Amino acid sequence: MGRYTGAVCRLCRRHGEKLFLKGTKCQTEKCAVNKRAYPPGQHGEGKRKKLSNYGVQLKEKQKVKRIYGVLERQFRKYFEVASKTKGVTGKVLLQLLERRLDNVVFRMGMGISRSQARQIVRHNLIAVNSRRVNIPSYLVDKDDVIEIKSKDKPKIKIKDNLELSKDRTVPSWLEFSATEMKGKVLRLPEKTDIQQPIQEQLIVELYSK
Ligand code: SF4
Repeated sequence: MGRYTGAVCRLCRRHGEKLFLKGTKCQTEKCAVNKRAYPPGQHGEGKRKKLSNYGVQLKEKQKVKRIYGVLERQFRKYFEVASKTKGVTGKVLLQLLERRLDNVVFRMGMGISRSQARQIVRHNLIAVNSRRVNIPSYLVDKDDVIEIKSKDKPKIKIKDNLELSKDRTVPSWLEFSATEMKGKVLRLPEKTDIQQPIQEQLIVELYSK
């Protein structure tokens, strides 16, 4: 299945929680979850259906995929890598997702949403350790330096994004200087660095069946 191209706010309403897919709008009263806290569609205002265990696990996996904008095949690959890596599989899985370059650009405030951060990376505006990287799934490592590298005027105005994201805190595993438009990975991320509630164990249970 390809990437979802419909109205992203519908996804949050379907999940019954904010997935923060739309940038600054997510922080305002205009957020669709604030305005209509029921699933989209004709029968949306009725009671939410009680889900089976499998349904709950599947829903959690879909949620995480949507938050990070990752398709099933790639998500499955992350799981396979996580399950072969030393440590708790669910936690390693989240760490891999957090280390994606598009996520890091978003976390540093250079993009107002992960999807916009993905575009910034694809447009070849980002350098990691002075070398341009245009692969959104590139995994950053400890001590990597991430910066804007563009002599041309980028279509996406990074300075405007930084202004719009100024109320978002850069997580403690990263540091970022808005004046230099440059940041560094101080350490690898932990589960506690992710503010959105994620029950990664449900995903592990789903894939371990
Ligand atoms: Fe989700 Fe953001 Fe839309 Fe709210 S505004 S429903 S958090 S994408």
